[in-house]
Amino acid sequence: MKHLQHFQQQLDDLKLQGQYRHFKSGVSSAPLIQFNGTTMLNLSSNDYLGLAADQALREEFFDLTPMHERQMSASSSRLLTGNFPAYERLEASMSQAFGRAVLLFNSGYHMNIGILPALVDSKTMIVADKLVHASIIDGIRLSTANYVRYRHNDLAHLQQLLTKYQADDKIERIMVVTESIFSMDGDETDLRALVALKQQFDKVLLYVDEAHAIGVRGQHGLGCAEQYQVLAEIDLLVGTFGKALASVGGYLVCDPVIREYLINHMRPLIFSTAQPPICMAWTDFIFQKMQSLQQERQQLASLALEAKQQIESLGYRCPSSSQIVPVIMGEAAQTVAAAEYMQQQGFYILPLRPPTVPQNTSRLRLCLNQHVTPTQLQQCLNVLREWSR
Ligand SMILES: *Cc1c(COP(=O)(O)O)cnc(C)c1O
Repeated sequence: MKHLQHFQQQLDDLKLQGQYRHFKSGVSSAPLIQFNGTTMLNLSSNDYLGLAADQALREEFFDLTPMHERQMSASSSRLLTGNFPAYERLEASMSQAFGRAVLLFNSGYHMNIGILPALVDSKTMIVADKLVHASIIDGIRLSTANYVRYRHNDLAHLQQLLTKYQADDKIERIMVVTESIFSMDGDETDLRALVALKQQFDKVLLYVDEAHAIGVRGQHGLGCAEQYQVLAEIDLLVGTFGKALASVGGYLVCDPVIREYLINHMRPLIFSTAQPPICMAWTDFIFQKMQSLQQERQQLASLALEAKQQIESLGYRCPSSSQIVPVIMGEAAQTVAAAEYMQQQGFYILPLRPPTVPQNTSRLRLCLNQHVTPTQLQQCLNVLREWSR
């Protein structure tokens, strides 16, 4: 029992620090979410295009998928007996859309903890944006490379670091790692400038995570890389199916040599049972649908712009240029109180506090999605205005 006391003590400390986490059971049917009988507008979902909530889509998919293709387990890794046709079909669809080789992973988390350790060695320097996702940090930690962080979105700082490491004979490769849209600030990397910078340094490989941009940006929803026409210049372009694409899994767009190398070296790919084939079939179905949702992408963008402008007019800092719209309040207790107030008024918005975000930048975070109407958004912003008086 003395061991349990040790863990209980740590949990009690977390509660005292206001950093205790627990599951809440909510029933979600977009754009609404229910907790303990209270129904709220869900402004904390990653279902940006509303596809996960779309029951008609699910019906269409099951109608199209005969029972013998509804396989619920791959029963082994793809390298053993788990390489069902559904994987190759999805990779072929994506390869065709992106114009390069594609490799699939069980989740975005597997992808980020697996690719970096497989590709880098002690002669590689990883240079990562200060605000990259926890899964990328874990991938860096699992790798044998040295690493440094550059100030968030500060390409001048990145350039200084690249100049230094390019000149260092002990370093053969530099892996620059960033996201296109960032999940805390909702801001984005200037991908064109980043690519132009990369092209000045022949040691650099560029790794960009489009978790919040796939489905949401670009003419065919292929992400910011498509939007800014730099698809071919990003050596390792990754993303997740778990957000706008209403499914589960991760993907990498890369040169066929890199794909082959990862199949031979990437541990989470080699040593984990592959996803159920039915998930692959569903992802392929959604991937096809998603490419033509240009109007939905535009509506989401204009909804987000409206939110940002009104939040700024209330005097808050809001660095967003995407569907993720923070209301940066600063102080943690005040932000928690604001979130509670918004929820009481029917808007499910969560507070983000340190250590998730830097000190004195506690914030509410609105994650907009395709099912939120301009009227609903306006009602929400009106409540925020009342709170801010
Ligand atoms: C959500 C997220 C991931 C993890 O993807 P999962 O498929 O949910 O495991 C990776 N990177 C970024 C930037 C994310 O936001």
